[in-house]
Amino acid sequence: MFESLSDRLESVFKKFREKGKLDSDDIKKGLREVRLALLEADVNYKVVKDFISRVENRALSSEVIESLTPFQQIIKIVYEELVKTLGGEAKGLDLGGAKPAKILLAGLQGSGKTTTAAKLAKFLKKKGHHPLLVSADIYRPAAIEQLKILAQKVEVPFYEPKSNEKPLEIVKNAIEMAKENGRDIVIIDTAGRLHIDEDLMQELIELKKTFNPSEVLLVADAMMGQDSVNVAKIFNERVGLTGIILTKIEGDARGGAALSIKEVTGCPIKFLGTGEKLDAFEVFYPERLAGRILGMGDILTLIEKAQEAFDLKKAKELERKIKKLEFDLEDLREQLRQMRKLGSVKDLLEFLPGIGRKLNEIEFDEKELIKMEAIINSMTKEERKNPRIINASRKRRIAKGSGTTVQDVNKLLRSYEEMLKLLKQMRAPGRFQSMIRRLI
Ligand code: GDP
Repeated sequence: MFESLSDRLESVFKKFREKGKLDSDDIKKGLREVRLALLEADVNYKVVKDFISRVENRALSSEVIESLTPFQQIIKIVYEELVKTLGGEAKGLDLGGAKPAKILLAGLQGSGKTTTAAKLAKFLKKKGHHPLLVSADIYRPAAIEQLKILAQKVEVPFYEPKSNEKPLEIVKNAIEMAKENGRDIVIIDTAGRLHIDEDLMQELIELKKTFNPSEVLLVADAMMGQDSVNVAKIFNERVGLTGIILTKIEGDARGGAALSIKEVTGCPIKFLGTGEKLDAFEVFYPERLAGRILGMGDILTLIEKAQEAFDLKKAKELERKIKKLEFDLEDLREQLRQMRKLGSVKDLLEFLPGIGRKLNEIEFDEKELIKMEAIINSMTKEERKNPRIINASRKRRIAKGSGTTVQDVNKLLRSYEEMLKLLKQMRAPGRFQSMIRRLI
């Protein structure tokens, strides 16, 4: 699913990552490549244009460029904007107030409409509903027969039309049958044509007007790319849709329809068909799909954790102190804490592009960090601010309080003195962390 798009994006982000520090030209160049990747994935050009301009506006802010982790910030922005393009929050099914609720399925022949009707019935049954299936496709007796067989498979009642019934009568009688049998949802499969035609549209308009379904869902084939998007646009303009079910998504390497259809039509994607089997059907979650496209798991949570660890404000404050040579043992303790936080998310972050590599440069000896922190914790505030007052008896007290030895306290103080000496050469807090690594 979306492999070719994912691969392209991954190689763009790899270049970003390898650069480390990014300036606005790097970002613009990178985003041009993202734009090409999306166009090649058959995403609607206007959707691409809007998406790139939103990402660019946010990515070129000084907050991103000057941050310690511009790459991660950009990935996060791309991810969040991708979620927006895909529709934002997941939209559930609207079952309205009427009993039974009515769900009308529309779509072209071959889009997977009949299969989807049965999939939806199965899905709703699992959720504790009692659906009933009906086919109003009087033009193709085989389509009615197909749904009848699928209804048996998913063990959901089916209304069998009489030979001379018209679509409106069929649906009316199916609703009666549902009422009599205590069914709470009627799923209506409608006629499909190879192309959009006026009769088809009129029939759908009529069905919608007569029965006022709470959902009018278009079943669209993701593999048809922009053709499906155009079909959805016309159906929405003529009939008025409440949502879209995109089928055959598992075979779609590019993702053009999924990424365009919401923005072009304004209709949310509600479900995905992910295979021929009757349980290959999922609720559509924009966040999960964006995560899949970027080849990542729950990226947002992970990136937020990483950002917490790289606390930008504290890093800047530290930089200021280093420049002024105000660095004391309280600052050292803060650094040790930050490094430990980083250590605790390191395992989680390792698989993420860009972050893992950077973290691998930092070797953590967790025990040593804890020991150093314990020693500093056992000092008085005055000792931390002015370590020169720490004499032999204070050292013994500190060692006892922290469960360490006087040698350990001496080692820490020596390291601190060495750091002070090196401070003049220091420019960035990043280098500071690697310096601590060398010293412990
Ligand atoms: P209809 O003409 O729109 O009613 O389409 P059908 O329900 O008859 O489906 C057409 C073909 O698409 C059938 O072979 C289905 O098995 C297949 N199909 C439907 N949904 C999916 C899906 O999500 N993935 C895949 N791979 N095939 C699907």
